[in-house]
Amino acid sequence: MANESFPILERVTQLLPKNAEIADSVFEGANIVLYSKNKEFVTNHTHAIRSVVTQVKKRIEIRADQSILVPVAQADTLIRNIIPKEAEVEDLWFDEKRSIVVIEAKKQGLVIGRKGEVVTEIQKKTLWSPILRRSPAIKSDLIKTIRHTLFKNSDYRRKFLDSIGRKIYSGFHRKKNYWARISFLGAAREVGRSCFILQTPESNIMLDCGINVASDEHAFPHLEVSEADLKKLDAVIISHAHTDHSGLLPLLFKYGYRGPVYCTEPTRDIMTLMQIDSIGIAQKEGKNALYSILDIKEMLKHVIPLDYGVVTDIAPDIRITLFDAGHILGSAVTHMNIGDGFHNLVYTGDYKYSGTNLLNHAHTDFQRVETVITEGTYGKTITPSVEEAKNMFLDIVTKTIKNGGKVLLPVLGVGRSQELMIVLEKAMRDKLIPEIPIFIDGMVWDVNAIHTAYPEFFNKRIASSIFDKKHNPFLSDCFKHVGSQEERKKLVEEEGPCVIMATSGMLAGGPSMFYLENLANNPKNQMIFTCYQGVGSLGRQLQEGSTEIIKRNGNRTQSILVKLGMETIRGFSGHSDRNEILSYIGKIRPKPRRVIVVHAEKTTALDIASSIHQKYYIETTAPRNLDIVRIR
Ligand code: ZN
Repeated sequence: MANESFPILERVTQLLPKNAEIADSVFEGANIVLYSKNKEFVTNHTHAIRSVVTQVKKRIEIRADQSILVPVAQADTLIRNIIPKEAEVEDLWFDEKRSIVVIEAKKQGLVIGRKGEVVTEIQKKTLWSPILRRSPAIKSDLIKTIRHTLFKNSDYRRKFLDSIGRKIYSGFHRKKNYWARISFLGAAREVGRSCFILQTPESNIMLDCGINVASDEHAFPHLEVSEADLKKLDAVIISHAHTDHSGLLPLLFKYGYRGPVYCTEPTRDIMTLMQIDSIGIAQKEGKNALYSILDIKEMLKHVIPLDYGVVTDIAPDIRITLFDAGHILGSAVTHMNIGDGFHNLVYTGDYKYSGTNLLNHAHTDFQRVETVITEGTYGKTITPSVEEAKNMFLDIVTKTIKNGGKVLLPVLGVGRSQELMIVLEKAMRDKLIPEIPIFIDGMVWDVNAIHTAYPEFFNKRIASSIFDKKHNPFLSDCFKHVGSQEERKKLVEEEGPCVIMATSGMLAGGPSMFYLENLANNPKNQMIFTCYQGVGSLGRQLQEGSTEIIKRNGNRTQSILVKLGMETIRGFSGHSDRNEILSYIGKIRPKPRRVIVVHAEKTTALDIASSIHQKYYIETTAPRNLDIVRIR
């Protein structure tokens, strides 16, 4: 395959020694991949590459040209022989067009070997470039489907990634009248439907593409504005997998967007599950789904996953780095270098500054930062500490169980559900609560599987317990998976005291609704809210004192009286409370010049914006939807 020449590819090829025998050079997004016909060079090029990387400041990878690869069948046998049995290899996928072999194994460390000696041996003997992937400790068909979709479309992806690289490196020279501004299409003075567009004279970048499930009227962000024109959009960045940040993304692909989506790998997998789940929920409720599985697959083909801390060019004038946000697995704070140092923007997404049982705290140190867009969900609330919340929670669980009742926990598929599982499993092991079954229903189970596939995204303590199968909290047999309607019925009718964890978190459809309807009648039962309840959602209405559920079934309405106990525990939240937001903004280094508050109800947004201004003398603003703020 001969590609059209391209300045930076030509330059890199020329900088390499003659014996490199480069047959082809392409982009994979912002990375440069060179295919060599020289076996010696493929297996031993570290030194030569290092000096080129220093000169061009781009990531460069050398792979073997197809013509010199060891044939697949032979390579398969060789690789399985080289890797020690204890590594438990589950799958080998050969991507011939890219000369890479994906090795899926339970114990990645053993595939790498001491100082990387096993992978080096694989490349030496087969010339294939190994890519390692951890097979999740919990089996999941959905993860398999995602990985298969990516693999099946590798030819398309290769061309797509090359075209993205050509666009990114098309050259940028900042003109005199360069500027940067942000357009707020949703989640401004409200929670839900996060969507913002960063515009410069060169690029249009969308930050998040969420949907507000609590609202029928204001469910979508304002995608009708001209800056959201899909033909002009250069890239989408997704901060994390919650529906109000990523739920509408497949719709862009349904309407023809074919550009890149940047997020972490866990975000890619979890948002895909949530989107697939939303189609099922819509169908069950007799509504039209917003998009189809095909649109989700199209989206998957265009995701470029990024690791925390890796600087990546995404447009000629925009360079981004994702950092830990401490909110849910894979959630990211996005740093954007705009116009080659012209302005630096940090978009926090949702974040937890104090850290949680599972995750590290949100990142605060940046090379440069002038503007921060922060979430302000709990900007008016002081929440109890995780420790206090835990004690309150275990207390209610114990009382309800001793009283012979069931505890219902409406949860988002990802985030609080895994936090609560860790708390319950540990409490039961430490005999702080009676031994009872914990039933898990809805997306939670598949999301758990993804958690076991990416332990490196957790804090150290949890990560090591996931590596060590004996204490993997997600594999404990106190957890029972509920999947079918019969199992659900049996659970509410026949099961004794227990805990039921079910989606959706705001009681907006999903199995949590079924349980509430069936448990509502008995005052011995208890429902505990642990996540944010959107304005207009049933969860919010109940939280504010409503004691009735009105169920619509076609033209008929049915009323269910809610007699079960209800409690709200905020301390488990993956969001920062008022004090945490204030300390986070104060800890950001270097000190920002401007803070923009989003993702908060109107009075909260105004309140926290003015508090930040008073405390730090920073310019603050809480824009409305459809406002445009010039950041420089
Ligand atoms: Zn969130």
